Amino acid sequence: MSYFSELGLAEPILRALDAKGYDDPTPIQRQAIPALLNGRDLLGIAQTGTGKTAAFALPSLHRLAQNPTGRINRACRMLVLSPTRELAAQIADNMRGYARFLDLSVQCVFGGVPVGKQIADLARGTDIMVATPGRLIDLVEQKALKLDHVEIFVLDEADQMMDLGFIKPLTRIARMLPKERQSLFFSATMPAEIAKLGSQFITDPVKVEVAPQATTAERVDQFVTFVGQREKQALLTLTLQKGLASGEIESCLVFTRTKHGADKVVRHLVAAGVEAAAIHGNKSQAQRTRALDGFRAGRIPVLVATDIAARGIDVPGVSAVFNFELPNVPEQYVHRIGRTARAGLSGLAISFCAPDERTYLRDIQRLTGVEPGSFPLPKDFVALAERLPTPSRHLAGAEKSDEQREGRGGNSNRRQRGKNRKPRPHPDAQVHARGNSSKPRGGSGGRPNGNPRNGRPNRAAAAR
Ligand code: AMP
Repeated sequence: MSYFSELGLAEPILRALDAKGYDDPTPIQRQAIPALLNGRDLLGIAQTGTGKTAAFALPSLHRLAQNPTGRINRACRMLVLSPTRELAAQIADNMRGYARFLDLSVQCVFGGVPVGKQIADLARGTDIMVATPGRLIDLVEQKALKLDHVEIFVLDEADQMMDLGFIKPLTRIARMLPKERQSLFFSATMPAEIAKLGSQFITDPVKVEVAPQATTAERVDQFVTFVGQREKQALLTLTLQKGLASGEIESCLVFTRTKHGADKVVRHLVAAGVEAAAIHGNKSQAQRTRALDGFRAGRIPVLVATDIAARGIDVPGVSAVFNFELPNVPEQYVHRIGRTARAGLSGLAISFCAPDERTYLRDIQRLTGVEPGSFPLPKDFVALAERLPTPSRHLAGAEKSDEQREGRGGNSNRRQRGKNRKPRPHPDAQVHARGNSSKPRGGSGGRPNGNPRNGRPNRAAAAR
């Protein structure tokens, strides 16, 4: 029997964990589960990837199952709020897995899909509701759901909720919850304003904190290429073509700063024969689901995402993360690279740093304490880049004007564009990012070609 049984969890839950192949609780699970089984409120400082979902799901399922009350029409006994649809769906999936041998139902609701079916499904009530705040309020306003039977309330990714401007809906929801309840509040970071938000929900909480952010960063092999903004696309395409063909990269996430940027990267990759899909807030729910399912199933090896869409997405086996643009908030970098190196594995992160992103890079290094190794431009970069195809469809609307702002024509003007747009490596790239890795990676000229921690060939080296 696993250590989970010593925590006092009910047998059907232990069976579900066994089926999942979990042997031991993660640190946050060890810390949180006993306190939550005792009915305490909890303040958790933890990122996704730490086993946070099971940390709140397992004791909650235990408590709900120990005290069966039957379902109440248009009500739920446990409410989990999540900032994004993807994360909500993921939490609901996990909870269904942990509850598979229990008679507890899980329903997930979020915006961007018709509300009618959600209302119909809620008519007979559900035990556990996982929701994004906006759609939850819609349902309450339409009298499809009441919150006065909530026994356990979980607010996940509170800092992201704040970033997304959910503060008002959250305050409204807080007022609708019964006073007598158990509350759990999770955030990756805990600045004063988040702590203040938390104090609205939790009373005398047990505080649990795991893996300071820099720790995740240390498990990831990190590299940087200094490159002009205009050369980034060619660098990404060439790196992925090579890495995917050799099998050294199996699946990767590419982060862009904007939704428009994500679409553009996808079009260039697809034109060059690299299967890719974008995931961001402007995509319909069906598109987002299709992209994520394709990525999870391995049909689409490259997912291009903005930070918000990617937050919390748990896809095992992401072999690399590319920062097409560096984030201006250094914590975001840690979230991004945490998409690889899941569940104790190591991972690879490559950042493309344009001259105007150097201050971001400095802030990131200050936060993580890690100085990334150099990832030089491929040999013959200019010649190879010139041969890359451009996306074949006409660019529309805002996008076209953006292209034109950058001094490029539309697709009909391809020959002309080829002339205008010779990739010029940024001068820094020639000196291989100063060859300044704090952890020497072997090989010549600062090239990373072996992973010092696990002895495996370095994916970065093969990807070049
Ligand atoms: P989370 O932080 O909840 O997103 O979990 C990160 C990943 O770790 C998910 O893929 C979980 O399925 C997995 N996981 C959670 N708890 C355990 C455990 N005790 N042992 C092994 N894997 C786990």
